[in-house]
Amino acid sequence: MTTHNIVSVSGGKDSTATLLAALALDVPNLRAVFADTGNEHEQTHEYLEYLEEVTGIPITRVKADFTHQIAGKRKFIETKWREQGVEEQVVLAALEALQPTGIPFLDLCIWKGRFPSRKAQFCTMELKRDPMLEQVLMPLMGRGDMLISWQGVRADESLNRRYLSECDEVGGGLFNYRPILKWDIPAVFEAHRYMGIKPNPLYSQGMGRVGCMPCINCRKDELREIALRFPEVIDRIDRWERLVQQASKRGAATFFAGSNAKHPKGSISDMTALEVMEIANIRQAVEWSKTVRGGIQYDLLMASDQNACSSSYGLCDSEWEPINMSEAA
Ligand code: SF4
Repeated sequence: MTTHNIVSVSGGKDSTATLLAALALDVPNLRAVFADTGNEHEQTHEYLEYLEEVTGIPITRVKADFTHQIAGKRKFIETKWREQGVEEQVVLAALEALQPTGIPFLDLCIWKGRFPSRKAQFCTMELKRDPMLEQVLMPLMGRGDMLISWQGVRADESLNRRYLSECDEVGGGLFNYRPILKWDIPAVFEAHRYMGIKPNPLYSQGMGRVGCMPCINCRKDELREIALRFPEVIDRIDRWERLVQQASKRGAATFFAGSNAKHPKGSISDMTALEVMEIANIRQAVEWSKTVRGGIQYDLLMASDQNACSSSYGLCDSEWEPINMSEAA
């Protein structure tokens, strides 16, 4: 029986520490997998190349493809939306927007006609878990081999993760293994130091999490840093908001706003599409991120909970306070 050790990496500190733990243990058939959402900063891709080079471990890139779902949505719009009496100009705009771009994050949102949110965090499953399962794990299952899926999850990140076990059996020879479950953040960086591996440089540029930039769970100060250092990222999200808005039946889609969000003007769900876009678009969110307290209250938009991204799979980088990198190097 062959044992395959497969580490999910995001470019963040926890998954890197997990890869380093596997490397230190010299486990057989070690490989790493990265799910490319198309919403990562270039420095994360460069960091993955660096990791491959310094560890000698190949990193398989997987990508979700929503071509079929988008084609299905087009058919649905052409028939059902028209039957439902949706305005013809909304139908035509949606049909124009519903074209696969090859950027998984954008295509997912175009298909859904909305961005993910904390309450509907479908991005982790659709963009990360499923492509890894379908493209890497499932083809290896059912052959009588043992597959160990190494996940960089720590118990102190969230309630969801606190009660996870270090190892559990999924079936078909697949096991989840969470070797850093009991580690704290200093231990994670200690692993980097011990193995002579630099952390993702985005951590020293004000980012509390790396992976998607921005993540839907992005903090206020992190958004401010992104806008300051990487204004092209905000421009890109601005373009994406317009496209997803076009594909949305409601005619509104903002990167951060949740449907039940509250605003001084009332509940977002009671506003017209244009009103929502006007107060909650990415540029407004950036303006709000520059306020200290008492700015227009956009707290509706953002995750303030440090543990907001609490998927038990450890596929997205977890939140932490940016540190002085001289402490981490
Ligand atoms: S990093 Fe954030 S935005 Fe990206 S898939 Fe994970 S939760 Fe979603």
